[in-house]
Amino acid sequence: MKKKRAKVIDRSSRKEILDPPPAFHLLAKPTGSTCNINCTYCFFLSKEALYPTEKNRMSDDTLEEHIRQLLESHKTPEVAISWQGGEPTLMRLDFFQKAIDMVEKYKKPDQSVLHTFQTNGILLDDAWGAFFKKHNFLVGLSVDGPREMHDQYRVDRGAKGTFDRVMKGWEVLRRHEVDFNILCTVHAGNERHGREVYRFFRDELDAQWIQFIPIVERATTKTIAIANEGWAAKAGRDRLLYKQEGKLVTERSVRSKQYGQFMLDVFEEWVRNDVASVFVQLFDVTLEAYFGQHSLCVHAPTCGLGPVLEYNGDVYSCDHYVEPDFKLGNIHDAHMLEMVASPRQRRFGNDKYDSLTAQCRQCEFLSLCNGGCPKDRFSLSRDGEPGHNYLCPGLEFFFRRTRPAFSTMAELLTQGRAPADIMALVDRTSPRGSDVGVNEAMAGHRRRMEH
Ligand code: SF4
Ligand code: SF4
Repeated sequence: MKKKRAKVIDRSSRKEILDPPPAFHLLAKPTGSTCNINCTYCFFLSKEALYPTEKNRMSDDTLEEHIRQLLESHKTPEVAISWQGGEPTLMRLDFFQKAIDMVEKYKKPDQSVLHTFQTNGILLDDAWGAFFKKHNFLVGLSVDGPREMHDQYRVDRGAKGTFDRVMKGWEVLRRHEVDFNILCTVHAGNERHGREVYRFFRDELDAQWIQFIPIVERATTKTIAIANEGWAAKAGRDRLLYKQEGKLVTERSVRSKQYGQFMLDVFEEWVRNDVASVFVQLFDVTLEAYFGQHSLCVHAPTCGLGPVLEYNGDVYSCDHYVEPDFKLGNIHDAHMLEMVASPRQRRFGNDKYDSLTAQCRQCEFLSLCNGGCPKDRFSLSRDGEPGHNYLCPGLEFFFRRTRPAFSTMAELLTQGRAPADIMALVDRTSPRGSDVGVNEAMAGHRRRMEH
């Protein structure tokens, strides 16, 4: 049966929505959480438990509502249409061709669209490559480093590593000259190898855009044993739905301080060689935070502009909160802009600031870090206050150790110079080839500039 069509928001009905945001970044999951592989740390696999009896595939009706409402909602000239999973290549190419057709149908004359697509790369072939190139997609490829690190957790249903198959997908993207970024999770299997992982992406995969995501899988005393086994369905075992609860973390999770060390190791390599030629998301957003700007929700003062659209039209507050308590509605019943601008979603976003611990509020790095993502706030602060970020020791370490270099890059920018000029200031002769060399050089540079 055809579902009820959402009401079209025309000028008069839009007035009913108070202060709608000019733009937001909605992640659409056309296959829900269904995936063709079985990464051990992927708690999204457990979300199949939300819709256990249905085949998780987005219908043409839902696709059309999604594109129409998203384009209607935006007041900015550029709109991002973002596909994610699960694994979106499990939808066939003609689904995405229909999405392109819908964009043409509903796009306002002054709107341009950026298509982004996150994939594990395994099903990519020349047809996908040609399609991505033709429509200028930016493709995110999930790789966790060289083979032994990647294969530690990114495995198929037979527990076999997927590295070789992912590299074939990468070759497709290269062959068709598709713009791609690497999405690398940081976990117990690669946390001690920041430089090696970064060099692999830069030198072997020719990556220019890299995003590192810390793996923090929460569990309670009741769920930790099952959680340590992984989140996929297992015969003879009740399906566990991952929720952001519990103060324990799985053994795959990155250790907090080590996350900071990993990012510092990457930074030391980057700041010597690759400023302005390789873009690492955390470094970009840290530098912009020195100017009071925040384009990444995790380190922004508030959040709530990154909702998720499930395959059946359900909208949730955030990709990390696809759970019943955070469902905002369904696009077949209400316009997505109403949900994004709703008091409930605003509260979700403002809670990020309102729930900061006293330690965060007094922290010298608050303007850079903003307490991190609320999903990671389940530890005790130094004063024993609950709700503090598990990753804090690593975040604080990273922001402290890189402060001289980022301050210098910010100063260069203020003077109208390129941040890349910092590379000429770095002490390349440091015997440790480490952060000490870089940071001492930066501190010396700052002192020279101050006198
Ligand atoms: S909960 Fe975390 S990931 Fe979600 S929007 Fe807020 S900061 Fe971003
Ligand atoms: S570094 Fe730690 S104390 Fe400072 S804002 Fe971030 S989470 Fe809070």
